[in-house]
Amino acid sequence: MGKRRGKEMSKKVACKNCKYLSEGNECPMCHSGQPVQNWKGRIYIVQPENSDIAKQLSITKEGEYAIKVT
Ligand SMILES: [Zn+2]
Repeated sequence: MGKRRGKEMSKKVACKNCKYLSEGNECPMCHSGQPVQNWKGRIYIVQPENSDIAKQLSITKEGEYAIKVT
Protein backbone atom coordinates (compact mmCIF):
# COMPACT_ATOMS: atom_id res chain seq x y z
CA MET A 1 0.00 0.00 0.00
CA GLY A 2 1.70 3.21 1.01
CA LYS A 3 4.92 1.55 1.98
CA ARG A 4 7.85 1.72 -0.35
CA ARG A 5 10.56 -0.82 -0.63
CA GLY A 6 14.00 -0.72 -2.09
CA LYS A 7 15.14 2.72 -0.97
CA GLU A 8 15.12 2.03 2.72
CA MET A 9 18.78 2.98 2.92
CA SER A 10 17.66 6.56 3.44
CA LYS A 11 15.78 5.64 6.59
CA LYS A 12 18.81 5.92 8.76
CA VAL A 13 18.95 8.04 11.85
CA ALA A 14 21.72 10.41 12.75
CA CYS A 15 23.37 10.59 16.12
CA LYS A 16 22.71 13.93 17.75
CA ASN A 17 26.04 13.82 19.43
CA CYS A 18 28.46 12.82 16.67
CA LYS A 19 26.22 12.78 13.55
CA TYR A 20 27.08 9.21 12.69
CA LEU A 21 24.39 7.54 10.57
CA SER A 22 23.02 4.23 11.75
CA GLU A 23 19.78 2.33 11.96
CA GLY A 24 19.63 1.59 15.64
CA ASN A 25 18.59 3.48 18.74
CA GLU A 26 22.09 3.66 20.07
CA CYS A 27 24.95 5.17 18.15
CA PRO A 28 27.61 2.50 17.49
CA MET A 29 30.22 5.23 17.42
CA CYS A 30 29.70 7.14 20.65
CA HIS A 31 26.86 5.16 22.30
CA SER A 32 24.93 8.32 23.07
CA GLY A 33 21.49 6.90 22.33
CA GLN A 34 20.12 10.11 20.82
CA PRO A 35 19.00 9.21 17.31
CA VAL A 36 17.58 12.04 15.21
CA GLN A 37 15.38 11.52 12.18
CA ASN A 38 15.64 15.10 10.96
CA TRP A 39 18.99 15.35 9.33
CA LYS A 40 20.26 16.74 6.06
CA GLY A 41 23.04 15.77 3.76
CA ARG A 42 25.14 12.68 3.95
CA ILE A 43 28.84 12.29 3.71
CA TYR A 44 31.16 9.36 3.86
CA ILE A 45 34.36 10.25 5.66
CA VAL A 46 37.24 8.03 4.65
CA GLN A 47 40.22 9.81 6.13
CA PRO A 48 39.03 12.14 8.87
CA GLU A 49 42.56 13.31 9.60
CA ASN A 50 42.85 14.61 6.03
CA SER A 51 39.34 15.99 5.67
CA ASP A 52 38.43 19.61 6.31
CA ILE A 53 34.75 18.80 6.56
CA ALA A 54 35.49 16.08 9.07
CA LYS A 55 37.26 18.65 11.19
CA GLN A 56 34.36 21.06 10.87
CA LEU A 57 31.98 18.34 11.99
CA SER A 58 34.36 17.08 14.70
CA ILE A 59 34.51 13.66 13.09
CA THR A 60 37.46 11.54 14.05
CA LYS A 61 36.48 8.10 12.78
CA GLU A 62 35.75 6.75 9.31
CA GLY A 63 32.10 6.28 8.48
CA GLU A 64 28.95 7.79 7.08
CA TYR A 65 27.69 10.95 8.71
CA ALA A 66 24.92 13.47 8.42
CA ILE A 67 26.07 16.95 7.57
CA LYS A 68 23.32 18.69 9.48
CA VAL A 69 21.31 17.41 12.40
CA THR A 70 18.33 19.36 13.67
ZN1 LIG B 1 27.20 9.18 18.08
